[in-house]
Amino acid sequence: MVTHFPIAHEDELLGSILARFVERQGIHEDRIACHLLFGSRNIAPAVFFQGHIAALMQQVGHIWKHSLEDIAYRHTLLPIFKPFVTEASFNSLLNEIIYKDKSHVMLKSGCSAGIVAWPVTYKVCPICYHDQITTYGYAIWQRTLQCPGVEACPEHECWLINSEVDIYPERKHKFYGPSDIKINIPTLSLIADKKSVLLSKMVYQLINTAS
Ligand SMILES: [Zn+2]
Repeated sequence: MVTHFPIAHEDELLGSILARFVERQGIHEDRIACHLLFGSRNIAPAVFFQGHIAALMQQVGHIWKHSLEDIAYRHTLLPIFKPFVTEASFNSLLNEIIYKDKSHVMLKSGCSAGIVAWPVTYKVCPICYHDQITTYGYAIWQRTLQCPGVEACPEHECWLINSEVDIYPERKHKFYGPSDIKINIPTLSLIADKKSVLLSKMVYQLINTAS
């Protein structure tokens, strides 16, 4: 039984929270971590749309007290679709992410159609990254920064850095967090162009105000 669970930050990806849990527990076997978190050894991490939220909350809901919908809205990229699909379609996607896995969401939302270029590595803002390390002792994956097309930090207005941590790694059952970054993240980055900053601010606004 899970007795401790990390405090989730605003705009933190669900996988980032789970990676922090696994690291704190000192679990080195990926499938044991999956079993502890989801009650199944066969659940695979999904960066953008982590599914099986209901199964997760059965294991950790006594500590992490949020509704299933809340988790999907706050810690996955699902809200990005809200303005672009009908209410019925969105509710169907919400249902999929809560009870099934990401492959259904990717398929139903049209993500896999190849129209949108989804990132293949995690992105970080160097200023956010170092601020988080100083303040919390660890960094998090910020979900806005992982959205397709987002290349600037909405807060610091600088270009993001490629962390070189793969979104589709060979270890399919491991939850990767910023502690898996192998490169040195610089402390500063150049100011991004206005269009990129505006886009990142709009995406941040879109996914953090949907409900
Ligand atoms: Zn930043």
